[in-house]
Amino acid sequence: MRIEQDMKLDFKDVLIRPKRSTLTSRSEVDISRDFVFLHSQRKYHGIPIIAANMDVTGTFQMAHALARHKLSAALHKHYGDAELLAFFAEDPVPPAAFYSMGITRPDYDKFVRIMKLAGNTIQHVCVDVANGYTKAFIGFIHKLRNAYPEITIMAGNVVTGEMTEELILDGVDIVKVGIGPGSVCTTRKMSGVGYPQLSAIIECADAAHGLHGLICADGGCTSPGDLAKAFGAGADFVMLGGMLAGHDECASDIVEVDGVRKMRFYGMSSREAMEKYAGGVAAYRASEGKEVLLDYRGPVENTLQDILGGVRSACTYVGARTLKELSKRTTFIRVSQQLNEVFGAS
Ligand code: 5GP
Repeated sequence: MRIEQDMKLDFKDVLIRPKRSTLTSRSEVDISRDFVFLHSQRKYHGIPIIAANMDVTGTFQMAHALARHKLSAALHKHYGDAELLAFFAEDPVPPAAFYSMGITRPDYDKFVRIMKLAGNTIQHVCVDVANGYTKAFIGFIHKLRNAYPEITIMAGNVVTGEMTEELILDGVDIVKVGIGPGSVCTTRKMSGVGYPQLSAIIECADAAHGLHGLICADGGCTSPGDLAKAFGAGADFVMLGGMLAGHDECASDIVEVDGVRKMRFYGMSSREAMEKYAGGVAAYRASEGKEVLLDYRGPVENTLQDILGGVRSACTYVGARTLKELSKRTTFIRVSQQLNEVFGAS
């Protein structure tokens, strides 16, 4: 047994210190980014925020709504072949829409089948497992990269620098970072495993950037300020589940509770999801997700304005004219636990 003594931080433990700025308005800030992905060599231009590949948020409707603002969606993996083929046959396909998959044989076979028919309209894939530290996951990445040198691969999840480096060397373009921070995730409670998300982002971004790779901070953002902190910490992309749930573009019905309109949102490893897709929770495992009822919030458009406005505002406060400059201009200040409890830093 070993104890690491270094302080590890979450979004709520810090604030961004204001800096002298010549910017006079948020409208002067450009929050889009341009990347050339390390392995696929494909070019990306957009606002690097991605809807999570959960079945409530990773929908075609969400992909279309986000594309209007140059944001992306990772589609959930439960769509059928025909629906996916129709989506990827659209002209144009919503930019940087990610096809998602797990690492089972049927996941791979489905992807091969669809790629054959959809051709090069599928350019970005998201390989998603709860634990990105397994040999099977690395083996899958090798197989996928060898078979498809030209696709952009986002894969995870991991939370440490050395595993980020390994994945980038194995062929991953964007390493997905986050174990346990999700709003409907119970991994930390159920297994005791996890890593404070802000520190995970800082450490993984540093490791990835050293090899010209990128990271996507996945999970734990509950307000626009958290996205600003994630980008400030070095995230190239940020993935959102809960913040995009509760909207018209989600695959979830509106239910009324005491006269208030609500929408269901659940983790992809929750009992609810496992009952829907796998006929129940297997005897050897516990669910590591939960279901919540969120207030219904109408079209995602209004929430997007808040999110984009918040990130622009952070850039203005530290004098960053572009999102790329934000991390260079970010100094985090630690917030005392007491202040945090009273005012909430996040
Ligand atoms: P949020 O933005 O809601 O805080 O986090 C979204 C992320 O939570 C997803 O992208 C995914 O990585 C993670 N997640 C989704 N469902 C589950 C689950 O059932 N269990 C766990 N451990 N993580 C989940």
